[in-house]
Amino acid sequence: MQQFIDKYDFTGKKAIVRVDFNVPLNEKFEITDDTRIRRAMPTLKKVLASGGSVIIMSHLGRPKKVDPTFSLKHIVDHVSECLGVPVQFAPDCQKADEQAAALKPGEALLLENLRFYAEEEGKPRGLKDDATDEEKKAAKAAVKASQKEFVKKLASYADCYINDAFGTAHRAHASTALIADYFPNDKMFGYLMEGEIKAIDNVLKHAERPLTAIIGGSKVSSKLAVLKNLVGKVDNLIIGGGMGYTFIKAQGGKIGLSLHEDELIPDALEILATAKEKGVNVYLSIETVAGQKFDNDTPQRIFKTNDIADDWEGMDAAPVTLESWKKVILASKTILWNGPVGVFELPNFAKGTLQIAEDLAEATRNGAYTLVGGGDSVAAVTQMGYADKVSYVSTGGGAMLEAIEGKELPGVAAIRG
Ligand code: AMP
Repeated sequence: MQQFIDKYDFTGKKAIVRVDFNVPLNEKFEITDDTRIRRAMPTLKKVLASGGSVIIMSHLGRPKKVDPTFSLKHIVDHVSECLGVPVQFAPDCQKADEQAAALKPGEALLLENLRFYAEEEGKPRGLKDDATDEEKKAAKAAVKASQKEFVKKLASYADCYINDAFGTAHRAHASTALIADYFPNDKMFGYLMEGEIKAIDNVLKHAERPLTAIIGGSKVSSKLAVLKNLVGKVDNLIIGGGMGYTFIKAQGGKIGLSLHEDELIPDALEILATAKEKGVNVYLSIETVAGQKFDNDTPQRIFKTNDIADDWEGMDAAPVTLESWKKVILASKTILWNGPVGVFELPNFAKGTLQIAEDLAEATRNGAYTLVGGGDSVAAVTQMGYADKVSYVSTGGGAMLEAIEGKELPGVAAIRG
């Protein structure tokens, strides 16, 4: 049975908490962005303040074996600073029995990187390139078998389990999903997970209408499932960024050198047909800012998006397009934004994406619910200083994308189920 962190009695209890401390480190192993650490603090502090202790577990990077480069020891001091108590460190997540047993209320222990063990992901490692299917199958069975012991050991440290790692909620890993089985009556979401799930539900389950999705980014192929799911749910669908040109071409437009995927033209046409059938308004780009090469200082010219000269490449949304999209955004009560509408990494082609961030901020001020989630639009709103001017900015790229695709996330199902 699912518990709720605000109602659970942590007095004298040890909570094992899965967080996402997969933070970027520089060559001196200094944290260059501690957002993920800070976002997990309310949950950890809540347990400590309620008379419990915490055993914190996370992955860092993608190590394929024990590798000091990916050790969580690099972040212990910073976590201690954020938490306000000295955090102890267990250098092997499978040998922390004594340290966990000795924890007193108010104390915290951080386990070493879970992915030092293949059992965390449940995928075999070290297979030879020429491994036969039989060998692959045997290796998979072996790691699955030892995964049970791995999970059991982690679970043995604690009285309750909290999942606050939304960034890995789309993975059915030992610490994100399987461990929940050991706490049938003592499992719950942390505040960050609760917030993310609520944000998704606000858009996909009980949105105030009109509901508008703005989908940008580079490729249709990476957002196909997103588009197909949303087209059945939203009132308005704005399709921008590099992926928009495939839709323009599908309708017979001339797109010059703009990014496009010919093989996805049938899918684009299908999405447009579904939208028409369901009465969903689709807004594509009307005019485009194009460049002659993929370079910040390349000369710029504005074209009708369906009539771009052969040697020009569409790289941002032009003012006429932005004006038309703004009207839709400001008339909406709920807005989901995923993916930049231009090459925002090049400052001269970031105006469109900046304008969308401003429009969302204005819509939020006017009372709309706005969610920015999944991928580069999160980086864009954060870099541009708009993160606190929208209703919610998701921390989980892949997880948010899968949620918008309409999939059930294993990390969520494990707690609810
Ligand atoms: P995604 O990860 O799918 O959200 O895609 C983000 C990427 O899309 C960013 O790196 C943008 O530079 C890129 N992008 C957006 N608009 C365009 C465009 N018109 N041409 C090429 N790339 C684009």
